[in-house]
Amino acid sequence: MEYYYPPSMDRVTKEVEFHLEKNKNLAQIFEVYKGILAVQLDCLDKIKASVILSEKELKEYFRNKKFLMSDQKLEIESKLFREILGSICKAIKKASPEAPESLLKLSEAEELDEENIQELLQKIALYNKQELEYFIEEKEIDKKTELNSEIIAFVIFMSLSPFYSANMKEVREKVDFSSWRQSYCPVCGQTAVIAKHRSEDGARVLECWLCHAEWVYPRMECPYCNNSDQKKLRFFYVTGDKARQVHVCEKCKRYLKTIDSKIMEKDVLLDIEAIATSYLDELAKREGYKPPKGAVVLN
Ligand SMILES: [Zn+2]
Ligand SMILES: [Zn+2]
Repeated sequence: MEYYYPPSMDRVTKEVEFHLEKNKNLAQIFEVYKGILAVQLDCLDKIKASVILSEKELKEYFRNKKFLMSDQKLEIESKLFREILGSICKAIKKASPEAPESLLKLSEAEELDEENIQELLQKIALYNKQELEYFIEEKEIDKKTELNSEIIAFVIFMSLSPFYSANMKEVREKVDFSSWRQSYCPVCGQTAVIAKHRSEDGARVLECWLCHAEWVYPRMECPYCNNSDQKKLRFFYVTGDKARQVHVCEKCKRYLKTIDSKIMEKDVLLDIEAIATSYLDELAKREGYKPPKGAVVLN
């Protein structure tokens, strides 16, 4: 299997330009995306993987449907984490000048200082988006920093992402994820929120938005409730763009945006597609479908 992460900035720029030709309104959000990605790619090589398991051990996890971080501790170097967080806040502010000024002070928050950060990171390591936002509100980090919980959670996830990715890359070198058949990520446990049909064989590939692991999931089954009744699975798309689809399940009423690389005749970067297809989210919601739980996307 060919992997797409980490992508080159050249490729990212090309794909972004392709979308901007069709929709100029995406210019700012893609500037934010590229700014964050540049920070993440820049630090990826500085991070050493902390989850060191043998091929046999890794396979054992997957056989037991257990994602790695469920009981492996992710080591996060406090200083580096705070640097990344500070750089990401700066990148967002630069690309989006109307973002609140207080964003530039987020890295100075008490909860993120040298004394408290490890405790915080270990606590939130397995949180999904809703859980992290709730935690931020409960601890009043939003009030103290004058930012809303959604942006704080987003910045924290984007800053954690390279640590997860470094471990995912280490794992991927030893074992592929071909025995993994869950809707959540084999490495960090987050729920996949976008998929593609691979160009070479049409297989459905899910990608984790946090660590960027990619794995195959059967096309004839709903990843969220395992429904495989074909009468209750269908997909739709906007006329003229058959490759960008919304797959829905009538049993659990959830949807999964899916890019058909075969129709498109090329493989795309799913992070970029996730942003460019926000109109499909609107459409799916209007039709009464819910997004996958825990989705973190720029919008
Ligand atoms: Zn993951
Ligand atoms: Zn379902």
